[in-house]
Amino acid sequence: MIYPDVLIVGAGPCGSFLAKILSEKGLEVVVVEEHPQIGHPSCCAGIVGIRGMRALGIKKEDWVLGELKSAQFFSSSGLSSKIGRGGKEAWVIDRAAFDRWLAEEALNAGAEFYLSTRCIGIDCSTSKVKLSGVFSGFAKPSIIIGSDGFSSIVRKSLGLDFGEFTFCAQIETKGEIEEGTAEIYLGQRFSPGFFAWGVRAGDVCRIGLGTTSGNPVRYLRNLIAKHPGIAGRVKQKVVVSAGVKAIPRTFLSSPARDNFLLVGDAAGQVKQITGGGIFLGMFCANIAALSILRAFEEEKPKKASKFYIQMFRKELLSELEVSKLASRFLFNLSDKKIDTLVSLLEDQMFIGIVKSAFDFDFHSSLIKALIPVFPEILGKLKVRRKSRLI
Ligand SMILES: Cc1cc2nc3c(=O)[nH]c(=O)nc-3n(C[C@H](O)[C@H](O)[C@H](O)COP(=O)(O)OP(=O)(O)OC[C@H]3O[C@@H](n4cnc5c(N)ncnc54)[C@H](O)[C@@H]3O)c2cc1C
Repeated sequence: MIYPDVLIVGAGPCGSFLAKILSEKGLEVVVVEEHPQIGHPSCCAGIVGIRGMRALGIKKEDWVLGELKSAQFFSSSGLSSKIGRGGKEAWVIDRAAFDRWLAEEALNAGAEFYLSTRCIGIDCSTSKVKLSGVFSGFAKPSIIIGSDGFSSIVRKSLGLDFGEFTFCAQIETKGEIEEGTAEIYLGQRFSPGFFAWGVRAGDVCRIGLGTTSGNPVRYLRNLIAKHPGIAGRVKQKVVVSAGVKAIPRTFLSSPARDNFLLVGDAAGQVKQITGGGIFLGMFCANIAALSILRAFEEEKPKKASKFYIQMFRKELLSELEVSKLASRFLFNLSDKKIDTLVSLLEDQMFIGIVKSAFDFDFHSSLIKALIPVFPEILGKLKVRRKSRLI
């Protein structure tokens, strides 16, 4: 039996980032990771906002493969619009190297990592965690963190499960995607309920897709063969890597209970419109760390959950709620309406609002700025005014 102050289940970016902050402050932290290697398998477009990363104290390292200044949207009928503000907005990262770098930072700060060690059961009444693998046995920590991804065993053990996911497939291949621009391929025919993307990452291109219904691999094959935005620009026979994974489509408004705290995908802390979860998950890991440190300072570790829920609700809940509403509106648009929306991206008024209000990581600022012109947008999209957004 081990008795760390904090046991972190899952060495993704959120778990390792949290481990780093807590270890730096002198807490005894153990991280368990079911895979033998941190960062693998990886299935991620690897796009993170530069401002957000800097706000978390993360500086550019050699895991940055490229920088993005703009996004180009393609509708399924072949319309396209490019939008950008001139400056660098995001990094394209080597996701496996990023995860390893964060784990090394945590290790250097004093955290212990048990690789090939899986959390296989939790007794919530005694806070005993059963581990299996290279380290087999039990842990009885003061605080347990579930940073174990979208299918979190910690979340399920707490009875806080949710069942709404976007299923994704992505390949890394050779292709002709311009550096500096993220490409977004739209259309219900191609990726029902979500969208598809293409981005250059060093020598390769990442082409991926999400869907809320059906097999994402089949949809991805069809996208690469037939979507006017990408067809003919990918060397399908040169697949460097391929992966399938899910993204939560909803979130927990109370991501903690007793001495259990959930961070990252485990709690659905992802941008509801893009599915990006690296920044928001790490942002919440930071909130969790502050809550735990405060609870330890007060010598009442169990209060960490309460502090975490309070701070999470203050900092992020409304952001997630507003973006979730907007995502449900956007992902239900027909292909015809998506055509109109893509044309709207050329509209000077719309561009002006995007340029002044867009925040790469907190989308609600743009959504709120668009509310005054929403009736006009709905008019152009010929949608009846029944959305709760207005
Ligand atoms: C196709 C795709 C593309 C994406 N692109 C982007 C993007 O461009 N930008 C962005 O910000 N986000 C993106 N995301 C989302 C992003 O990958 C996640 O939000 C992010 O990885 C969440 O980090 P995490 O630490 O919460 O979980 P994860 O990264 O999933 O890490 C969880 C860790 O826990 C381990 N684990 C799980 N269960 C156990 C267990 N029982 N015991 C021990 N260990 C366990 C896993 O092995 C894993 O290492 C994408 C997701 C997908 C699917």
